[in-house]
Amino acid sequence: MEANPSVLATVGVGDLVLLDPLSEESLLSNLRERFLHKEIYTYIGNVVISVNPYRQLPIYSAEMVEQYCNGNFYAMKPHIYAIAEDAYSSLRDRNRDQCILITGESGAGKTEASKLVMSYVAAVCSKGADVTKVKEQLLQSNPVLEAFGNAKTIRNNNSSRFGKYMDVEFDFKGEPLGGLISNYLLEKSRVVWHVKNERNFHIFYQLLAGASDPLLKRLKLQRDCRHHGYLGDENPRLPGMDDATNFQAVQDAMRIIGFSEAEVMQLLEVTAVVLKLGDLQLSGQFQASGMDACGIQNIQGWMGSILEQALCSRTVEAKQEKVVTALSVAQGYFGRDALAKNIYSRLFDWLVTRINESIQVTAGERRKVMGVLDIYGFEIFQDNSFEQFIINYCNEKLQQIFILMTLKEEQEEYFREGIKWTPVTFFDNSIICDLIESGGILVLLDEECLRPGTVSAATFLAKLDQAFGSHEHYESRKSQSDRHITDTSLPSTCFRVHHYAGKVTYNATGFIEKNTDRLYRGLAQAMWQAKHTLLRSLFPDGDPKKASLKMPPTAGFQFKASINTLMKNLYSKNPNYIRCIKPNENQAPGQFTDELVRSQVRYLGLLENVRVRRAGYAYRQPYQPCLERYRLLSTHTWPRWTGTARDGVQALLSDLDIPPEELAYGHTKVFIRTPQTLFNLEERRRRRV
Ligand code: ADP
Ligand code: MG
Repeated sequence: MEANPSVLATVGVGDLVLLDPLSEESLLSNLRERFLHKEIYTYIGNVVISVNPYRQLPIYSAEMVEQYCNGNFYAMKPHIYAIAEDAYSSLRDRNRDQCILITGESGAGKTEASKLVMSYVAAVCSKGADVTKVKEQLLQSNPVLEAFGNAKTIRNNNSSRFGKYMDVEFDFKGEPLGGLISNYLLEKSRVVWHVKNERNFHIFYQLLAGASDPLLKRLKLQRDCRHHGYLGDENPRLPGMDDATNFQAVQDAMRIIGFSEAEVMQLLEVTAVVLKLGDLQLSGQFQASGMDACGIQNIQGWMGSILEQALCSRTVEAKQEKVVTALSVAQGYFGRDALAKNIYSRLFDWLVTRINESIQVTAGERRKVMGVLDIYGFEIFQDNSFEQFIINYCNEKLQQIFILMTLKEEQEEYFREGIKWTPVTFFDNSIICDLIESGGILVLLDEECLRPGTVSAATFLAKLDQAFGSHEHYESRKSQSDRHITDTSLPSTCFRVHHYAGKVTYNATGFIEKNTDRLYRGLAQAMWQAKHTLLRSLFPDGDPKKASLKMPPTAGFQFKASINTLMKNLYSKNPNYIRCIKPNENQAPGQFTDELVRSQVRYLGLLENVRVRRAGYAYRQPYQPCLERYRLLSTHTWPRWTGTARDGVQALLSDLDIPPEELAYGHTKVFIRTPQTLFNLEERRRRRV
């Protein structure tokens, strides 16, 4: 996709590459001005920035799709459809796999953007019967995954609590054949706890609001949320969201995808089991030892006895001897919550696998792929823990791939066009990626988790200090005192990483537990004994025959592996970027909070993005449209030009006294080095027309 002159005719500049002067301030005020005029999309070359309007704009109609699809691209405003069209047409016509990377913080509009892209592609490809079925299945995966993976948070009433990557596969004509979804890091702690004014995952409320009386009875659930421990006791209703209607929609969606009635029922049963775990009451029983060993008070149904065994006692095998110890009430509740989180996250994985079974392409047909990544952006909170560390690591990797791919893409284009390329240097964040992954913090964390003996946040920190005390992107109390820095803002339990987007202080407490993330084996075994096919299938590790002494991989290790697979996948494709920005904290239309946007502009690295784009030639355009636009400026090309477009552009531009170093003539495009030259051309044209 090219920057185009129409971007100059809109409010501010439609392409930040043309911003002059370029500074954080000018970038911000350009976005603000456009946003206040309801221009929510702005380019940086082929990157689209999208500022969440928090209101329905009349820009997604079928006519709009039509316009962008038949693309007189050069006369159109920046739009997400333009990037969708560009990606889709280059996949279809030029046989290039595409990926669309959508980033931004919670509530910025990532998920909506991914749906807009998908619906655009669905709208422009053909309408044959087989295709319609595939399209429906692909689109219907959204409501199902959102029911189980989204929740109301303070930032967003429909916040995705997992990362998602979806490959959509097409045949050689550009018709969709199917897809494959990968999910990352479900926020499973939400199952057992959420802050006030937030909610648990949507599905629980949908089930209670939408299930028929007989179904609720069968699942042994109470319709009122307040009777269920994990749902909290506030009023859970959300404006504009009807849980009962959505429950119907989710079930319909599952049927369209291809779930059988029995599967839907089993899925709901396991969901109900999770809710009921939250209702378990444990009580202390007097023990001779004086401990408050626990027992289950309100055992119901088939799960009762195996649960009591699993939650209230622990069996340790030592020297061929089984030792059974009673657990305290607190330990019992801890185990219960761990189990609920585990069942739910395994259920979610099952759901993704099950959807994939339906939509996956099996035929060995030659095909092309469009990947869409909707994943959390950089996070800096007051308190940052293991989750933020992992998320920020992911963003660090995405930044790395962004720089690599943009530079690679630029280089390739110059090579294709036969233009001399002078390499430019940028901040290379691989040093930070290394600090985290290869031989880095995650590796030391794993060592600490697997080490016998007493490990704690303090031993982990000491280990980090020893390895990275002098690393320029690492900081702790110890490394500061080694460098004679006194900084009281860094607590002694924390370490700080200088990310590309800013410094983040992580509290080391909890890293070890969250990374190990182990479910007590007795619980897995209890689940494996369950008389419920689906529940049982979620716990293959509970099969005593398969029980091995080997530790399961840590959370960090698994995430690192899946991120590296993802990066390889993305790197093999042609990238398209959508950077989403949240304009205010109130989910309100028309409000643009400067400081909030400024921090996102920083975390998204937008200024750097513009610099990368401007590295060689800021602006480029194919010869024909360039000639059409500016031919009236020279008597060589006006009123008539009969030669090739390339010669025409050359004749016209040399007639205009533009310094030759400002221009380069490629095989199909003219390249302009600085934005001023383009402004100059536009200005002359404006005076003529
Ligand atoms: P994220 O996935 O980044 O957390 P969402 O995509 O869920 O954010 O968007 C949050 C909310 O913002 C949506 O539920 C919707 O109300 C609103 N929104 C986002 N993008 C748009 C858009 N293009 N037009 C109108 N409203 C939008
Ligand atoms: Mg989302």
